[in-house]
Parts: sequence; C-alpha cells; structure tokens
Amino acid sequence: MRGRELRGELDAFLAETEQDLVAFRRDLHMHPELAFAEYRTTQRIAERLTAAGLSPSVLPKGTGLICDVGSGDGPTIALRADIDALPLQDEKDVPYRSTVAGACHACGHDVHTTVLLGTSLFLAQQAAAGSLPGRVRLIFQPAEELPGGALEVMAHGGISGVDRIFGLHCDPRVDVGQFGLRTGPITSACDKIAVRVSGPGGHTARPHLTADLVFALAKILTELPAALSRRVDPRSSLSLVWGKVVAGTAANAIPDDGVAEGTVRCLDEDAWHAAPDLIKSLLESVAGAYGVEATLDYTRGVPPVVNDELSVEMLSAAAEQALGAGAVVPTQQSLGGEDFGWYLESIPGAFARLGTRSPDGVTYDIHQGTFDVDEKAIAMGVRVMATTALTSLWEVGPLDSITNAMA
Ligand SMILES: [Zn+2]
Ligand SMILES: [Zn+2]
Repeated sequence: MRGRELRGELDAFLAETEQDLVAFRRDLHMHPELAFAEYRTTQRIAERLTAAGLSPSVLPKGTGLICDVGSGDGPTIALRADIDALPLQDEKDVPYRSTVAGACHACGHDVHTTVLLGTSLFLAQQAAAGSLPGRVRLIFQPAEELPGGALEVMAHGGISGVDRIFGLHCDPRVDVGQFGLRTGPITSACDKIAVRVSGPGGHTARPHLTADLVFALAKILTELPAALSRRVDPRSSLSLVWGKVVAGTAANAIPDDGVAEGTVRCLDEDAWHAAPDLIKSLLESVAGAYGVEATLDYTRGVPPVVNDELSVEMLSAAAEQALGAGAVVPTQQSLGGEDFGWYLESIPGAFARLGTRSPDGVTYDIHQGTFDVDEKAIAMGVRVMATTALTSLWEVGPLDSITNAMA
C-alpha cells in the first residue's frame, strides 16, 4: 500500500522535475571541475538544496557538502554521490559538451550528482509533509577520482551516526531501466608500491666485492610476486605487477641504488589489509639473501567496495518496487577502484550500477572522452534512491512505529 502510494508520488514529482534535472545535469556537464576544485558545482547544489528549505553544510575545503533531511530519534540512512570530473578532453559533439579544455564528466559523476539532487528534493517534500520516519544524510562527495574525497567526508563526521549508506555508479554496459547489484565485493583495491634498493656498487669484474645490486633487484622483481602468490589465498587475486624499473648507468659498473615501482590489486578485503606487512617481510627476506638494503614505500589507494548482504536486499527490493520486476540484474566484480569502499569499512551499505545505455544504442566506456548516458537514467536513479531511503527507514523505523506495527 505504502509502496504503491510512493510510486505514484514519484511519478508526480518526476513529471514536474525531470526536465529540470536533465538541464541541471547538462549545466554540470558543460562546467566540469576536477577533484577538490568543485567550487561551482558545490555552489549549484547548495543553492538548489537551500531553495528547497534544506540547510547544506559545505566541507571545510569549500568543495563537497553534507545535508540532513528530517530529524528525530529515528535511524539515519546516508545517500552518497561523487561530484568531480576527470582531466580528459570531451570528444562528444553535443550541445552540452564540456566548455573547459582538458576536463570532462567522463565517469558520469554529473549524473550521480543530479540523481542525488532529485532524490534530495523529493525527500525534502516528504519531510515537509511529515512522511519521513527518520533522517537521510545527503553526501555530495568531492574528489572520488583522486581519490581522497571519501576520507575528507569521514574526517568531518560525514558518516557519524549513520546506520547504513547507499550509492550508485553509471554503468554504460547495462541498459537504462536496469540496475546491477552484487553481494560481497563489487570493485577492487588498487595500491601503489615503490621498492628502493641500495648497497655498495663497483666494477662488474668484481661483483663479490659489491652487493651486485642489479642482480639483487632482478631477484626481487621476480621472487616477490612469486612468493606473494604462494602466501595468500589465490581466491583473493592479490597481484603485484611492476610497471617501472630503474638502475645503473653503464654496462661495466654496478650501481649503488635502484628502484622498482608497481601496483598491487586485490579482490579481497582481508588480503588487502594484510598486503603491506606481508610484502614488506617478503622483500626483507629476498633482499637480505643478496646483501642489499631494501625499503618499501606502500601507498594505499582504495579498499574494495564490499556490499553488505542485508543492504543489497534492501536496495534490490527498492529497485524492483521503483522500476518494476526484472529491473535488478546481476553484475560482476570489476577490477576498478571506487572510494565508496572507505565508508563500507566503517558502516554497512551497498553500491549499485545504474544502467545508462540506450537499448540498442552505442556501448560507451567510462574514462573515455566519448562517454555519454541515456538521460532517462536520471529519473530511474531518483526513483531507486528515494525508494531505498524511505523503505529502509520504514523497515528499521523509529521504535514507536515498530511498536505500532506490532500492536
Ligand atoms: Zn572514474
Ligand atoms: Zn566514477
């Protein structure tokens, strides 16, 4: 009963606002801003939220904002959108093409932002009508691509008091009207490492008097990934792949230092947590065998996004209710990274893929200058996010409503 009413209310809301939301997305698309420089974008969002009677709070760096809808002792559900663009040239020939050279919304974050804005406006109406049984925290996060935006939001209390968080990302391989979901990991971890080796150099005629550094570095390059593959569960797909090696300047001189850099990718959260210590100890043992000093610089990227089972059920039920039976399709874990994973290290939640391909249309890819979406996806996203927020608040609703329902 409540679900049918909600669908009707969303129909009425979108009949009035869908065109306006499409125009909002096109405005963002024409004025893309890179990570931690989203000042105009933040301003545009804040203006619209304020006009709807909400009180957005801009993050200290001046980009990104947080805004609560509703209040009271009920549960708090967070909805997150990322707002930054990519340092890429827009290669599309459309009226809403980027007006900024070398910047483009090629990852669809303009769409995520617009979906969350539409959802915010609808929830503001619900709150004004007294129909919001709890609080919804709207997180317009800066700098997903850098990354660093999720940690910035968390450093300023963005998810404190939040019970559950939901987010979505455009998927150009899924048709508009469909929604890709998966329990467990849906994206991967990706970190960077740099290994520096040093030791006494010398003439190649007398390697026994040196640490034969190039030989030792070559051993590290092959033995470290090999040892790693025997020390972690193969199902975690922890892989170390080198991309850069530098050592030496002359054929007959053993250098006294060298460096190797690479990436560590991983599908599994536990293996990701264990990776730095494990790699460090393996490196020490290989380097020690050849008498060189080795240091490890380990730079954390993002953890995998690991979807919580109950949150996936909630999101899935809401998507079916909002878009119809058959709207939810299974999706695979991607090797890409997404900083939504930082939130899910602290609180349960789920991340979904919003279909943006026109049926029988072109299949684009994200992070390409040609990327574009079927804008019908915006209304679909609003339907799903609004329904998810409301149904999850109803489900875990305030104590008195649960008591009433049981009475
Ligand atoms: Zn991206
Ligand atoms: Zn993205």
